Amino acid sequence: MRRLILLTALVSLLTQARAQEPLKPQLAPCGSLGLSDWLKESRFRQPVQDRSEDTMWVAIKPHLLGKDSGAGRIAIEKYLDSFCQLNEDFGPSNIQFFMKDGWNLLNETDWHVHSDIPTGIDMMLTNNVPDALNAYFVADPAGNCGYNLPYGGVAIAHGCSGDNDHTWAHEVGHALNLPHPFIGWEGKLYNFNTPTPTVLTYDYTYFHDTLDTQVPAPLDTALVELKDGSNCAIAADRICDTPPDYLSYRWECDANNKSITKQKDPTGAEFYSDGTLFMSYALDQCQNRFSPEEINIMRATLLSEKLNWLSPEMPLEPISADPVAIEPVQDQLVPVTGAVLRWNAVPNATHYLVQASRFTNFSFKQVDVVTTDTFAIAGQLTPNLKYYWRIRPFNNRYTCAPFSTQSTFKTSMASATTDPDAQGWRWYPTVLSPGQSLNLEMPESWQGSDIMCRVYNAAGQLMWQQKQRWPARQNTLELPSGQWPAGVYLLILSGEQGVKAMKLTMDGGR
Ligand SMILES: [Zn+2]
Repeated sequence: MRRLILLTALVSLLTQARAQEPLKPQLAPCGSLGLSDWLKESRFRQPVQDRSEDTMWVAIKPHLLGKDSGAGRIAIEKYLDSFCQLNEDFGPSNIQFFMKDGWNLLNETDWHVHSDIPTGIDMMLTNNVPDALNAYFVADPAGNCGYNLPYGGVAIAHGCSGDNDHTWAHEVGHALNLPHPFIGWEGKLYNFNTPTPTVLTYDYTYFHDTLDTQVPAPLDTALVELKDGSNCAIAADRICDTPPDYLSYRWECDANNKSITKQKDPTGAEFYSDGTLFMSYALDQCQNRFSPEEINIMRATLLSEKLNWLSPEMPLEPISADPVAIEPVQDQLVPVTGAVLRWNAVPNATHYLVQASRFTNFSFKQVDVVTTDTFAIAGQLTPNLKYYWRIRPFNNRYTCAPFSTQSTFKTSMASATTDPDAQGWRWYPTVLSPGQSLNLEMPESWQGSDIMCRVYNAAGQLMWQQKQRWPARQNTLELPSGQWPAGVYLLILSGEQGVKAMKLTMDGGR
């Protein structure tokens, strides 16, 4: 337990956006602006609650935007890195996030790159799910690295995502009622050589607590914070442990994470900005914290205004073990179509990202899928080539596990079974490893009817039989082939349509 924190100390600033300049010249750091009514009014309320040390579990609903074609979405590993970074950034606050029912894939070119905030409002109000903080990953959120709409959600640029980028933490800070420490200076360029004003006016259209009915909205005003802190409870962000800061563009810091740029307050007192704050516009490498008072505000927000984002249930545990590839490994030969990749289940993992590439750096990925199984079936690969593949486990709260070590396989020469035969049958792989399932495509006339399946060995001995009914053209058949010696086998399907024979080769037990 900590001392009582009077929300009197909480102040009001809301909306905010973040722009980045030096590192990401095309995007402004943040589009969010403003001071929330909650923060303003909290000064006049009793404390919501003592601050406890309990971890608060906050539901996040990610929406990953692609173009109409589905292209251009953030790479899943980059998204996983971003979510991991978000939880790391919030670690000291004991606020942790989990994905509510996984992520949502949206394909809409006009949202994927949106040139103005009203389009982003449309995106959010169309797709938001209740009882969660909605987060939209887009290629370009109206020229910003990100922004927060208090009545909508947060938007994050692909280019400002990933590990070592704190844009998501910054925008979530806004969503939990934190303003910029430099509120009032957004869109203005601080100039040391002109007198610093005592009051600033600013236009926070679209970034108020509720959708503005008047556009542009009337100007807001903010007092300029003094270096001595004497007006800290009523000036700028109204948070007293975030010192004055007038820099509303991406700025570099020195070895102590202070701004290179010197500023002076309205009394002439000189200071440098604190780049450690996630809510500043310092470069990402300068940032590493929320202030204690900021943390109190965010926790109090979750216990009051955003109580519906909190989950009482205990989410999944972190993942500590690495997945291990079972097959194929060490250049094992696989069919060009339908190669099956298998690995050991990892404790606490509910999902796996599976990737295969011709390149060790995975710059191009021929397989890039998420599955809840412990196997994945590759589609069409190129014959006679070496591939690398890897697995990354995760669950709805923990995405920090690294990829497995890479395994390799080689594809066989192109095989005649790549195309369906004259009747429409296709089966692959024709060389089966123990436990590997057979992919079976059948003509329409066979679909949905009873089919007797029998496997004979080369000596004509019946090895296995089973009656099946497949409603679809594409099916899989699990054969108990692990019990069979290596060799050639015949699979015979018989039904009222006739008989179909297929030759299979078992590559033997382990
Ligand atoms: Zn911001």
